[in-house]
Amino acid sequence: MLNIHPVPAFRDNYIWVVHNQNHAAVVDPGMASPVIEFLEHHRLQLSAILITHHHSDHTGGIAELRRRHDVPVYGPAAEAITTVTHPLHEHDHVSLPALPLNLSVIDIAGHTRGHIAYYGSPPFGMVFCGDTLFACGCGRVFEGTPQQMYQSLQKLSRLPDDTLIFCAHEYTLGNVAFAREIDPGNATLIEFELEARQLRQQNTPTVPTTLGLERAINPFLRCEQPQIITSAQRFSGKSSTDPVAIFAILREWKNNF
Ligand SMILES: [Zn+2]
Repeated sequence: MLNIHPVPAFRDNYIWVVHNQNHAAVVDPGMASPVIEFLEHHRLQLSAILITHHHSDHTGGIAELRRRHDVPVYGPAAEAITTVTHPLHEHDHVSLPALPLNLSVIDIAGHTRGHIAYYGSPPFGMVFCGDTLFACGCGRVFEGTPQQMYQSLQKLSRLPDDTLIFCAHEYTLGNVAFAREIDPGNATLIEFELEARQLRQQNTPTVPTTLGLERAINPFLRCEQPQIITSAQRFSGKSSTDPVAIFAILREWKNNF
């Protein structure tokens, strides 16, 4: 039985620890100290480190963890991360028999040039998607193009409905406020906002969500929906219905929201 636990770091990062009571893998350790504390507290032996992209709030703890644990560090081959020992390309597999955990690599460029996701297929339907897909939102497009980011989100969107989305930040309430502006009549979104508010009042993470829910509430996965198109057109004054153009308008709008 696998447990997947969010270790909070910085202001709003989650470092995900996957463990089976004995062995653990850690995803995007931007900081070492809270991970070390969690591993010691739960008497877990670290087996591997998984990295989605090069930003320091996802990689800053690797060196310290490696000083204590001689474990492989998996990460995107397309990004220069000196601490990665096992560079990965799309469709590569990561096998961690100690847990056991088998993950496949999906290329999701856009936030950064080489951003990858790790997908565990059922019975472990889960995806660790870093800063690409968030609950009710998506990451900023720093190094790629809107087209790349749109295609990356579409790839994630084709995973099964019950896939758990393990993203790297607690951005949900801000994302929901933006989604409400674009999609005010969405009853599922209104319901999710209530749940998310309650969770945050108790200081409980709002993630993981599921892909089925995201497809119902996340405007960045719904660029073909009439309500989303209408809102984007009204905001931009443009008449395009092309989903990539709609995505680009939404992303720009959210950047300044
Ligand atoms: Zn990032």
